Amino acid sequence: MLVRFKRFMSALVAVALVVLMADTAHADFNPIGSEPDVPYVQPADANVPRRGCATTLSDPKNAEGSVPAVQVIYAWHEESGNRYDDFVERIAKIVDRVDWSLDESTNYDQHVNLSCRTGYGTSGYADYARALVVPEKIENGVIGGETAADVVEDDLEAAGYDHTNRTYMVFEDFDGTAEAFCEVLCVAATDDWDSGTMLHEFIHLFDVDHAKVTETVLHEDTDVMSTQWHTWQVDQEFNNYYDPSETTATFYTSAYPHPRKANLATWSMLTPPVCCDVGYSNDLLTAQERTIEADAPHGYPTGFTVSGGGWLQVTPPGTDNQVSARYYDGRRSLTANVQAWAEGIVSVTRRPQVTPGQRYKFFVRLTTATSGGVKLRLSWYNASNALISNSDGSLHALTSDWAEYNVSAVAPAGAATVQLSVVSPSGQSFAYVVDGLQLNHCDNTRTTDGCRLDSGLPTP
Ligand SMILES: [Zn+2]
Repeated sequence: MLVRFKRFMSALVAVALVVLMADTAHADFNPIGSEPDVPYVQPADANVPRRGCATTLSDPKNAEGSVPAVQVIYAWHEESGNRYDDFVERIAKIVDRVDWSLDESTNYDQHVNLSCRTGYGTSGYADYARALVVPEKIENGVIGGETAADVVEDDLEAAGYDHTNRTYMVFEDFDGTAEAFCEVLCVAATDDWDSGTMLHEFIHLFDVDHAKVTETVLHEDTDVMSTQWHTWQVDQEFNNYYDPSETTATFYTSAYPHPRKANLATWSMLTPPVCCDVGYSNDLLTAQERTIEADAPHGYPTGFTVSGGGWLQVTPPGTDNQVSARYYDGRRSLTANVQAWAEGIVSVTRRPQVTPGQRYKFFVRLTTATSGGVKLRLSWYNASNALISNSDGSLHALTSDWAEYNVSAVAPAGAATVQLSVVSPSGQSFAYVVDGLQLNHCDNTRTTDGCRLDSGLPTP
């Protein structure tokens, strides 16, 4: 749960860390942790794909010249002794589940690079596990108490593990912490042995925080960076830290005022993302259409159109303590100023392509400082750019909270493209704020309607 970056710590980061350090991650050693089952249950052990080795070294401590990759460590100390043979295959299976979770999160093919060692066969799972997982005794581990991740990092560093192109997934066979820690080495350590916790700590090593939990307390995402206890998927909204569809797009990886922008899909520890396969979530918008991050405050939002009663601007900045309440996914949002004389329609100008007979779901985050009502609309167009029909959602009374709204429908016969709109009925005069748009193509078979789940799971 914790993340600590001694090496990269700045004054701004230190402010954010005070918040993170407050949620303690202490848990007793638990090698048989339960696997997360949201948005749906993972495959049984026998059906989890074996990730395999991106590279194989004769000396796992010397990775110079090798591809960037993850070294998996079984860490033990004298309290329980070395139980490597008891646990090595379970650890390998959890690492395979981490890889499955990343790949299954979206309709892109992307995987974790794993480092293996020579000296083991490659046929059976027992050989693979032993090539993948290296045992290490933590000499200064605390007997009868909790051993922190910095002690583990110091030990690996002293043992001579490579620091230039390796990160470390460490499974602690003692009372340790679920923690991401970077000093000379970057280690993702946990004594809760399940794929959700390890994936969560591993993503922290890319300096990603808790998916804006502090900004959206009432609407925690179904995201492994928010709720790794039951969730395995990575950034279902494509707007916090991960967008494999547009690797040049970057996102604020922590709440204001943390300055870092990044996209996990570009991490050297992962294979490049390749379109397209089947997975949980996807998005047919561009990063700008989703986040409005490219434009300056007060300006006109690129990629959006308004018609009828209202006008648009990129939300002007507030004071620091208002920013996190105003901007959902970064620093920018769109403000619609509704006028009473007519229905107001705010649209994504570009119309993504659709396939007749398939379901699409439009998500958007909306908030207002006053009160008013809007509905969401999918407008279907044929190949000649003529409107076929509208699919309207119900009228929502907006609140001061960043709730996520959605409407879904099946594209009608003849549909070639769809326009996304937020519609305010006439007779109202108020302002509402728009952010976090997404057009989900519900083309998989893993959830009830094939669409990604709505946000808003309660805190466990
Ligand atoms: Zn965490």
